[in-house]
Amino acid sequence: MSDNGTLKASIKAAASRASIVPRRRLPDYAVDGLLPQIAVSPANAEETAAVLSAAASCEAAVIPWGGGTAMATGGIPRRYDVALDVTRLNRVVEHVAEDLTVVVQAGARLQELQEHLAHRGQYLPLDSPLPERATIGGILASNAGGPWRHAHGWPRDWLLGMRVALPDGNVIKSGGRVVKNVAGYDMGKLFTGSFGTLGVIVEAAFKVMPLPPARATAVAFFKSSGVAVRAAMALHARNLRVESLDLLSADAANAVLVDHAKGNLWCLLAAIAGNRGAVERTLREMAAICTGEGAAMASLAPEQAETVWQRVRGLGLQTPDRDALTLRAFLLPSKVAPFLESAESTARARDLPLQIDARPALGAVYCRTAGGERVTVLVRELRELAGSLGGGLVVEACATSLKSQIDVWGGSRPDAVLMTRVKGALDARRTMSPGRFVGGL
Ligand SMILES: Cc1cc2nc3c(=O)[nH]c(=O)nc-3n(C[C@H](O)[C@H](O)[C@H](O)COP(=O)(O)OP(=O)(O)OC[C@H]3O[C@@H](n4cnc5c(N)ncnc54)[C@H](O)[C@@H]3O)c2cc1C
Repeated sequence: MSDNGTLKASIKAAASRASIVPRRRLPDYAVDGLLPQIAVSPANAEETAAVLSAAASCEAAVIPWGGGTAMATGGIPRRYDVALDVTRLNRVVEHVAEDLTVVVQAGARLQELQEHLAHRGQYLPLDSPLPERATIGGILASNAGGPWRHAHGWPRDWLLGMRVALPDGNVIKSGGRVVKNVAGYDMGKLFTGSFGTLGVIVEAAFKVMPLPPARATAVAFFKSSGVAVRAAMALHARNLRVESLDLLSADAANAVLVDHAKGNLWCLLAAIAGNRGAVERTLREMAAICTGEGAAMASLAPEQAETVWQRVRGLGLQTPDRDALTLRAFLLPSKVAPFLESAESTARARDLPLQIDARPALGAVYCRTAGGERVTVLVRELRELAGSLGGGLVVEACATSLKSQIDVWGGSRPDAVLMTRVKGALDARRTMSPGRFVGGL
């Protein structure tokens, strides 16, 4: 690794003066307590690639930054020299409303993009906590899915194409701007979910959707998680206009519903979208299913509903109370009910709080707890539980002190050799976010 002076000189030679972030702001780019030597905010894709190439030639380590809302996700970096902030790449490059496609730079905030698309009655069906901060590049790099994933799938499902700056100084293009695009390896999907370990996403093309004419949110309160999951799966099987379907434990429900909190009951929250008739029919059928299972129903006014869903999206995010931890279990939908039952009793036995946000139809269960070192035992037990049910578990966000005691990604994977080869092919010098990803990649 070149000395700091050489590194800074090389980066400054590769980037314009305006792109160098003032030194006093370096603490804003801390990752697990580590600070970079220099932070750069490039103005375009070519400058981004030049900075990566300069860093690589100095054997330096670069971590890309979007809105920083998910920087607590991932292993502790093995090295960290350059923070590469993509937020100046924030333009909507092209929006062809007739074709339902949009091309946007990776530093654009999700909220800004949605506001732009809404002018033409359209939206990108991706939802994220803190949309005013989360960037398109960060959402793609973490392939993160919010409650809308129930109906709309992952970010990679809406991706048409992508441009990526690589540590060898090239900017590559994958896919296209139209729905039917070129044959070949879908490289865009490779970079999605790669957590900044292969290159820097600088631009992406997406399919978009017309905004639904009507939306509503219904709430059902259940005495037990098992009955709630049964009702959720019955509703899902009806194939109605359900956009999000989250099952919250009592603690989580009390945190997001506030005025509507119902003490010690599980809460099934459904967002419904479509034309007015379809929304009303879905509300009727949901009420019939849930009251048939003994649930009490409630509905939220539109403005209350948006606040509640934003709180649900933010449930897992890392907050200042340093000993909190968020994990995500992935299971077959049929295993969600047994997992919920055991997870609650396991946490109770360890005298630890547990906020749960489950998406039964997707087999995804987010659990949030706090309690310092004691939670490492709970993580091991819940990981064994998920494993015994044929699933797995990753730690989405936790304090650095806990990361040294837990493998956040859950140990080795059958495709580790292939992943190491891909990493080697695209980033031979380990420039991109070394140590942050699966298997310490
Ligand atoms: C507990 C938890 C729950 C979450 N829940 C949801 C959710 O419900 N819905 C949802 O959509 N998201 C969720 N997220 C993810 C997150 O909040 C955002 O979706 C998104 O990842 C944040 O974007 P950002 O710009 O803030 O990314 P950042 O926090 O800046 O970066 C996230 C990761 O992507 C890398 N990265 C950032 N920009 C780029 C780029 N241009 N090229 C390559 N790599 C890049 C970073 O190095 C980092 O590893 C969750 C995250 C956590 C930790």
